[in-house]
Amino acid sequence: MATELLKMTAQIVTSHASMNEMSSQELINEITSVYNTLAALAGEKAVAVEMVETPEAETGEAQPKPAVPVEESIQDDYIVCLECGQRFRTLKAHLRRAHNLAPADYYERFGLDPKKYHLVSRNYSEQRRQLAKAKGLGEFRRAKKA
Ligand SMILES: [Zn+2]
Repeated sequence: MATELLKMTAQIVTSHASMNEMSSQELINEITSVYNTLAALAGEKAVAVEMVETPEAETGEAQPKPAVPVEESIQDDYIVCLECGQRFRTLKAHLRRAHNLAPADYYERFGLDPKKYHLVSRNYSEQRRQLAKAKGLGEFRRAKKA
């Protein structure tokens, strides 16, 4: 009986899975192969479930190809996202929102040097510097008054 086979399959796979760490795909493969083995032994028809290979280490060493050459990605007015090729004044929020990448991931992904490669356009970082300077001066004045 197929249901009987299913029960046995579940028992075997459960006990096996409790001893071994298995991905869900491995589990499916395991269930299928156990079921088919039992089915063959019992003279039942095997289920035709395609055995899916567990994907090879997804974190593969191969680096993704940047959308534009790294050296061309930082411009005066914008910075190009190496992931999708869009232009931004600052990339951090976009990476998080659109690609779910932390800056560190992004650096690693494209082999960038965090010390040399900033996630903002040149002008924007200059603007920020000026702003910070002005703010610092303001605070300095206020502190003097108090
Ligand atoms: Zn992007």
